Amino acid sequence: MSTYLLEIKGIKKTYSVRGAGRALFSSKERMCAVENMSLGVKEGETYGLVGESGCGKSTTGRAVVGLTKVDSGSILYGDKDLCKLSEKEFRPLRKELQMVFQDALSALNPRRRIGEILEETLAIHGIGTASERREQVMEILQRVGLSEEHYFRFPHELSGGQVQRLGIAGALIIKPRLIVCDEPVSALDVSIQAQILNMLMDLQKELGISLLFISHDIGVVRFISDRVGVMYLGSLMEEAETEQLFAHPLHPYTEALFAAAPDPFIKRRKAAALTGEQPVRTETFQGCAFCTRCPHADEKCRKEAPKLREVEKGHKIACHLHK
Ligand code: SF4
Repeated sequence: MSTYLLEIKGIKKTYSVRGAGRALFSSKERMCAVENMSLGVKEGETYGLVGESGCGKSTTGRAVVGLTKVDSGSILYGDKDLCKLSEKEFRPLRKELQMVFQDALSALNPRRRIGEILEETLAIHGIGTASERREQVMEILQRVGLSEEHYFRFPHELSGGQVQRLGIAGALIIKPRLIVCDEPVSALDVSIQAQILNMLMDLQKELGISLLFISHDIGVVRFISDRVGVMYLGSLMEEAETEQLFAHPLHPYTEALFAAAPDPFIKRRKAAALTGEQPVRTETFQGCAFCTRCPHADEKCRKEAPKLREVEKGHKIACHLHK
């Protein structure tokens, strides 16, 4: 039996290169948003997925909830491979796999009152009678730090922090087993970020749900996660328990990421901070994804992609440096 509630195994997602970008590539080349990406989320844990913007974190999260279809690989949930399910077969699982977006406001109908929006979510999943649904909405509003008075408001009448609370309420109300949180606090002020993160941690403990928490902010990921995966250019570079990773990073990309972090609590190592942009990864890309920016890159790195493997108990990296 798998130790994971959800296990992503070697997924790949490519896009065709259109418009001006096409001139840079041969017409047959496709851009890889995600390549051989693997991770597992255990029951009741928070798995933080961190990396620079555009590294494929959101594509991975969207694939989990069925918003993005991958080209190959599998996403195992219970005895099902989510990648093989049709839209109809996936529908019942939407109740168990929810997502909170960075821009929660754009996902809300501006013409409906908040109470109606949440009640509609319950109705879509066939949960409760009208009066039971109203009761559940009132309860969830309180749980996420809103009040009964917010039931009658429209989404645009809420502050940024309240909108995120509403987004979390919308995911929680149908009692999911796993929530993908995609940059849920990156648009908020630091003080509001702390409130939302603390609330998420409390709710997760209380309800025993699992979180796949996606962020480019390593300070935020360190604060909320039990385990952390570091992603670069579509693939996982390193994975470990939070304390282990932040005390003892092994991958040159993780070291460079920490060296560049403004967070004073992150232990800095003697690594050169990252410079330049992530290159575009196409299907013909060879070798280690980090080789164009890695100070240790050699001939082998340019030819052969390192496999993600366990080098210490629970600590995995994808790098030729570590034997
Ligand atoms: Fe750097 Fe090579 Fe390790 Fe990639 S495999 S991170 S290029 S040393």
